[in-house]
Amino acid sequence: MMKRISLLEIAHDIVGSYIEPADIALDATLGNGHDTVFLARSVGTDGHVFGFDIQPQALIKSFQRLLQHDLQRRVTLRLASHADMLSHIPKQWYGRVRAVMFNLGYLPGADKAVITQIDSTLAALDSASVLLAPRAVITVLAYPGHAGGDLETEQLVAWCRQLDRTCFTSEVVLSSHDKPSAPRLFVIRKQADLL
Ligand code: SAH
Repeated sequence: MMKRISLLEIAHDIVGSYIEPADIALDATLGNGHDTVFLARSVGTDGHVFGFDIQPQALIKSFQRLLQHDLQRRVTLRLASHADMLSHIPKQWYGRVRAVMFNLGYLPGADKAVITQIDSTLAALDSASVLLAPRAVITVLAYPGHAGGDLETEQLVAWCRQLDRTCFTSEVVLSSHDKPSAPRLFVIRKQADLL
């Protein structure tokens, strides 16, 4: 049987193709810390990762996972909304961030009532696009299958449409089981050389 590649793996492949040693990357939704570990590995010993979540449990899980891989020194974890990311990133890093990853929805194994919210998600995306370096990428894994996630996904499509086409391109990668409720991956790329 052919192995099904998950959207998470596709996101990692795409982000991995952008990141170089010593880069700066952000995990906008720490969750259980899988993306943070991936980003921390990718940026190497001279790079740095900032991770955000509003649930202490996500920071604890992520820190434990980082410790297991001895990657904790490359990562700064913040108990804060990604909507406020600009106030947590050192000013000298504005315009130098190579990748920002979002994994929306709720934290598996935690309170399912705590989900990402449209307003803060869009505010975070606006901030993320300010922080991006030339030749950089944002990935957003969205889950239209749950209440709130459907609207959030629609708003994401609208957000992508209003991007400045001279700087950004966007695409949506659908799951192999292509139901309207299936998760989907938004990939927003910032061009390398802007006039
Ligand atoms: N749905 C995914 C996991 C998503 S985890 C899966 O099933 O694999 C999403 C994380 O985003 C949760 O840990 C949640 O606490 C976090 N989150 C929600 N709102 C946030 C915000 N405003 N800022 C940062 N993190 C947020």
